[in-house]
Amino acid sequence: MQPPKADMSSPSPRYVGRFAPSPTGPLHLGSLFTAIASWLHARQQQGHWLVRMEDLDPPREQTGAAEAIITTLTNWGLHSDAPVLFQSERLHAYQKTSDQLLETGKAYRCDCSRKQVATEGLASPEGWRYSGRCRERQVASNKQHCIRLDSRSVQIQFTDELQGPQQETPEQLYGDFPIRRADEYFAYQLAVVVDDAYQGVTHVVRGIDLLSSTSRQICLQQKLGLTTPNYCHLPVLIGEDGQKLSKQNLAKPVPVDYDLETMRWLLDALALDSDQAPLASGPKAALEWAAQHWQPQRLAQLKQLAAAPSSPC
Ligand code: GLU
Repeated sequence: MQPPKADMSSPSPRYVGRFAPSPTGPLHLGSLFTAIASWLHARQQQGHWLVRMEDLDPPREQTGAAEAIITTLTNWGLHSDAPVLFQSERLHAYQKTSDQLLETGKAYRCDCSRKQVATEGLASPEGWRYSGRCRERQVASNKQHCIRLDSRSVQIQFTDELQGPQQETPEQLYGDFPIRRADEYFAYQLAVVVDDAYQGVTHVVRGIDLLSSTSRQICLQQKLGLTTPNYCHLPVLIGEDGQKLSKQNLAKPVPVDYDLETMRWLLDALALDSDQAPLASGPKAALEWAAQHWQPQRLAQLKQLAAAPSSPC
């Protein structure tokens, strides 16, 4: 099945970017920062920008959050160039991919308990990693199990647009990682790879907190014979407690309607001179101005930006 097409002037755009929020709460300053940066990046290259709702984990989601996120993005001038894709409607595609990986021996069922995984875990710079105990065990499909990707002997190298050259061996860091969880929800790593390919995404612009997921995603792309997009990992905004602003630590939502002072703050955080921006003319004019002046390299090597105490929300 083909993805819903954007109103595209050319049949295969050179640049397709995306913003992929999880509807675990309303947009906060950190997520709006990422949304705007990914939009500017796409817009500057006359690319398409898509919104994908990552509603794959119902226990963590908040009722009404997906609609609230879409309304806020729209009010801030951030319109998806194709209908919003909901991952909850893509389960068949994840199932097909996970079946394919199992059938070709690239993934396997694992029935280790959490305790077993932790106690038998091997040392890793990340703390511990899965030992690979179930690789050869042929766990029956009627037992409760997760599905892990056999990631042995895969070494990943890529150059992040802002963070520079990266090199990781996912198996040494994370062990064989789950692509479907024991509670039968598909793992983020699998869904994101399947959908980036399905939507033809060429550029992933997102927070640096996801840099550590990238080698696992490239590993999956390689196992599936998919093209690897370009990656650009932005600094994350941190609050007064030194933690990344997130829905988990109850970062305050941004105003649902365009707010000039918040936009001013965000443009400055994006290393743009907000004094020059036509902020009072509304979000569309402010964003178009920002796309003309956007210089992502000004954020190069930055890992974090302080959102407090000067931030408007
Ligand atoms: N859904 C993820 C989040 O809200 C982002 C995933 C991605 O951009 O790859 O943090």
